[in-house]
Amino acid sequence: MNEQMRQSEESILHTYNRFPVVLDHGEGCWLYDTEGKKYLDFAAGIAVNALGYHYPGYDEALKEQIGKLMHISNLYYNEPMSEAGHKLVKASGMSKAFFTNSGTEAIEGALKAARKYAYAKGRRDRYEIIAMNHSFHGRSMGALSVTGNAHYREPFEPLIGGVKFADFNDLESVKAQITEKTCAIITETVQGEGGIYPAEQSFLEGLREICTEKDILLIFDEIQCGMGRTGTYFAWQSYGVKPDIMTCAKALGSGVPVGAFVLGEKAAEASLAPGDHGTTYGGNPFVCAAVSKVFDIFEEDHILEHVRELTPYLEEKLDGLVEKYDTVAARRGKGFMQGLVITGIPVGTVVSRALEKGLLVISAGSDVLRLVPPLVITKEHIDLMIEILEKSLA
Ligand SMILES: *Cc1c(COP(=O)(O)O)cnc(C)c1O
Repeated sequence: MNEQMRQSEESILHTYNRFPVVLDHGEGCWLYDTEGKKYLDFAAGIAVNALGYHYPGYDEALKEQIGKLMHISNLYYNEPMSEAGHKLVKASGMSKAFFTNSGTEAIEGALKAARKYAYAKGRRDRYEIIAMNHSFHGRSMGALSVTGNAHYREPFEPLIGGVKFADFNDLESVKAQITEKTCAIITETVQGEGGIYPAEQSFLEGLREICTEKDILLIFDEIQCGMGRTGTYFAWQSYGVKPDIMTCAKALGSGVPVGAFVLGEKAAEASLAPGDHGTTYGGNPFVCAAVSKVFDIFEEDHILEHVRELTPYLEEKLDGLVEKYDTVAARRGKGFMQGLVITGIPVGTVVSRALEKGLLVISAGSDVLRLVPPLVITKEHIDLMIEILEKSLA
């Protein structure tokens, strides 16, 4: 353990078992540690750094905003927020956005909006929320309450009441949990943390149908799978199934801490009103300058098209690993959000070996190797990733 690692362990609360590497700087899709060793980055800070490091124009836009204003509170208007909000609403085809500091806070806002929607309609008895098993929505008390992982929840119970769990991609199990008291159903469009499980078309369509019929709000958590990761701005757009509320974060600012919950017309008209919700930092000029620039870069440099174009190549190469190695049982995923199911050896072993050989990948669930690279990777990066993974698996 070197000096920086030791000092961190002395002062930082031990809630993470970190990899033994001190990262220093990045360039493109590469990261460099303090000893000068370089790593091909297929983790992207957990699906955050959509544009990699120092993407042309990105740093400049942020520096320019630092030179003007970083923070003013939400008591005043500012240009970056109005631009970022406009672009987010336009990209999603939804109605109103609220910027937060994280994904977790976006979930909190979405849950509050759903409860308030029922309340505003005079249905105070409608407070139940249906969430999915193996889901992940964050670590605060509210977000944890809808996270389908008992191991994460149990030490902190009692959490918020009225949450029921159903099985992802099992419409009947969701139907079985619906009562007169149900106000919302929340699901990731592609489960991330739980092991990279894309929703089935019929599942999302079925949810949409039930929710519309019963006036239940449908919430899609797009925090990990949104912002171009699956080849459309938001994963639900490729299914043609629109939620009433959507959460996003991670790649939204591509490196600055920002999230948002976005309401469709119905939820926007009758839910959160002045005084119902707030945040000191949320959507400050600095982070919104990043969001706004990210949308500009996505448009000008055709990032979504690039993901769509390169996905078949990435999938073909990963499928090659499934064929070649007994330890790789299957591939699952959508776009640049891919998982390899590892059997026979702990997935952590493969991740550690890859790190030693200069490739950053992460895990998901108990046995999935997760690949969530910057959206700007090239074929050459994919080839190199496969080469290092092969050496790590051999
Ligand atoms: C990461 C994540 C969250 C939590 O976001 P934070 O920014 O860590 O608070 C919520 N939902 C999903 C699907 C995520 O991947």
